[in-house]
Amino acid sequence: RAKALGKARYEVFSVGMRTQVVSRLQLENDLRRAIASAIEGNSQELSVHYQPIVSLETGKIAGFEALVRWQNSQGKFISPVEFIPVAEETGLIVTLGEWILEQSCRQLRIWQQQFTMQPELTISVNLSSQQFAQPDLIERIEQILKKIGLNGHSLKLEITESMAMKDVDSTIAKILRLKALNLKFSIDDFGTGYSSLSYLHRFPVDTLKVDRSFVSRMEETTEDAAIVQTIVMLSHILGMDVIAEGIETASQMEKLRILQCEYGQGYFFSKPLHAEAATALLSQYTNSV
Ligand code: C2E
Ligand code: MG
Ligand code: MG
Ligand code: MG
Repeated sequence: RAKALGKARYEVFSVGMRTQVVSRLQLENDLRRAIASAIEGNSQELSVHYQPIVSLETGKIAGFEALVRWQNSQGKFISPVEFIPVAEETGLIVTLGEWILEQSCRQLRIWQQQFTMQPELTISVNLSSQQFAQPDLIERIEQILKKIGLNGHSLKLEITESMAMKDVDSTIAKILRLKALNLKFSIDDFGTGYSSLSYLHRFPVDTLKVDRSFVSRMEETTEDAAIVQTIVMLSHILGMDVIAEGIETASQMEKLRILQCEYGQGYFFSKPLHAEAATALLSQYTNSV
């Protein structure tokens, strides 16, 4: 009897497990196929969207963050929050990440040739931890820049705070090697990881991105307002500039501007846009060449 019960329980457990494993495998297979066709140049499922990063002082677009989008063959949108971790675990992120990087650099080059902007537009691209750990990352990036004819200083790489803090010394060494190509760096989602403030000044990064969670609560709790203010002040002391993520209202923007936060990003300005829509936005803001 106990055995029968045990078996029944085992089967209930295994059905749930099985569904999970199957859908996870399905996702992995779909993603693998989507990446393969993207690389072949018929990228129907995968695309890169661009969200403007706006100067809070001038209101002008300073650059864009590249954000990958996936609409699978059934037409369903799958969030990067869901598939990036799968891409990480399977190693697919290396090919995917390189494709995103190349697409983004190519698009930026087109914009730079199409619009005169002073200072020049920059593109921010998220790097996953596997990508960052690649031994030949520097050569790969150098090759892409050369192929496209993009200046290194136009490209900014975003690494998360937790990635940066994992192995501080080797992270710093790697950043320095990439900065020899004139690339810029941001620390993404700042405030959500476990930064030791004593390490922060050692990171040769240009920008801190205040995590959206603080920005969205900064008008509700005095603690969050204080955290945002402290991050902005600290960044400036360390010679970095600041991007506030997830600005959704005019009053958040105004408060951040008063705190002398340099840049903002969020639905208040624009959602991430496909390339054509981002181009249309740019042409409203600037003069064509
Ligand atoms: P992230 O790098 O911090 O990107 C910002 C996320 O916040 C994006 O979500 C963006 O659409 C969203 N966002 C921007 N403004 C607002 C706002 O005002 N309100 C709200 N509610 N959300 C806003 P998304 O595109 O879903 O990406 C989520 C995360 O997935 C990213 O966080 C990043 O960690 C990862 N990710 C996205 N694209 C890529 C990529 O191309 N490569 C890698 N490695 N990771 C990526
Ligand atoms: Mg980012
Ligand atoms: Mg972020
Ligand atoms: Mg974030």
